[in-house]
Amino acid sequence: MNNHQSGMPLRNILVVDDTAENLRLLSTMLTQSGYAPRCVINGKMALRACNSNPPDLILLDIMMPEMNGYEVCQHLKLEAKTREIPVIFISAKDEIFDKVNAFAVGGVDYISKPFQFEEVLARIESHLSLRNLQKQLKEQNVLLQEEITSRLAVEKTLQEKNQILQQEISTRRAVEKALQEQNLVLQQEISNRQRAESALLKSNQELARSNAELEQFAYVASHDLQAPLATIASYAQLLEKRYKDQLDSKASKFIDNIVHGCTRMQTLIDDLLEYSRVGRSRKPFQLTDCNHAVEQALANLQGAIRETQAVVTYSELPAVMGDISQLVQLFQNLVGNSIKYRHDVPLVVHITACKQEKDWLFSVSDNGIGIATQHQARIFQIFQRLHTQKEYSGTGIGLAICQKIVERHGGYIWVESKPGQGSTFYFTVA
Ligand code: ADP
Repeated sequence: MNNHQSGMPLRNILVVDDTAENLRLLSTMLTQSGYAPRCVINGKMALRACNSNPPDLILLDIMMPEMNGYEVCQHLKLEAKTREIPVIFISAKDEIFDKVNAFAVGGVDYISKPFQFEEVLARIESHLSLRNLQKQLKEQNVLLQEEITSRLAVEKTLQEKNQILQQEISTRRAVEKALQEQNLVLQQEISNRQRAESALLKSNQELARSNAELEQFAYVASHDLQAPLATIASYAQLLEKRYKDQLDSKASKFIDNIVHGCTRMQTLIDDLLEYSRVGRSRKPFQLTDCNHAVEQALANLQGAIRETQAVVTYSELPAVMGDISQLVQLFQNLVGNSIKYRHDVPLVVHITACKQEKDWLFSVSDNGIGIATQHQARIFQIFQRLHTQKEYSGTGIGLAICQKIVERHGGYIWVESKPGQGSTFYFTVA
């Protein structure tokens, strides 16, 4: 198989020989076999030809004038451009041919003259295909190197990405850990709150139960006390009426004290009964005009208002869902207190209401004696008074009743006040 048949491009072969006969013979032979031989007749020409267009193989005669084949070969091996070109030496039969030297200077083979045509071709083909294989190997090597470089680059990128991922993973783990810890704290807080909530619920239930018990007790006690109290009062009055002449002034004073005590006790019983009635009431709520409730309360207080010359005014009030008699009582207790705890200036009381997001905010303000800040919360508790009976009479139940009424209507009650300037009682109604 020659190069032409295998489809390979024509092989560029340089033939170097100073004998014209040899050149012609080899050139014809090679051309017939499908090669493109170039022929030169000495070493210098050979080197020039190799530099300008490096051949694929060189057939190099050894014995030439000026520069022999070995020298030519040595020159070729020095240059990178020509180093790889396979050189086959041609030796004449009568020449002293040094095979060792031929290989030492870089030759790949040798042919002795006279040569066998087939042998020359076989050797050329074998070295060309060797050269070809070498070339392919080199190319593959380059490709492999490139592949290795690109794989190394990919590996490096992967390693970098891996590092970033590792960092991300450890950051996420840290965040996860922090979250878990926070979760634990939250869980603890939740269970603490749940415990506190259930404790609160329990104490609320306990409070409701004891309130109900207190109401029941207040009702029973005050109700049952009424009859014996009435008996004491009427017998004391009878004693005074019947034995008036036989009693000295001291005894009359004692009887007076008994009657006075009974009256005060009756007031206390009345207030207690009223207090217990608020919680026990089951009257359903109705739409109630608060203007009417205030009018009724003022009518009930008209004696005291007239007596003290108090000026009581109110702005347009809303209608709310409620118990009319309890609302009357609420306004009456608050305005009644304003009258009771008045100052030495003409008393002015004003009632207003304003709409809030979810409820109505009412206020009853006066220019009375006022209440010190430290007492403002406790005055809504039952029996809490800030004055003696001599200073201001009372039972300490009025504001406790007000609070009960407001709470029954879904609201809150509180006071804002400055001693010596007056007080404003606020309450909300849903
Ligand atoms: P009472 O009037 O029978 O003493 P209350 O429960 O109505 O009982 O009031 C409790 C206390 O609150 C009163 O003793 C009084 O000191 C104070 N108080 C209530 N209303 C007013 C007011 N408008 N101005 C000043 N003090 C007030």
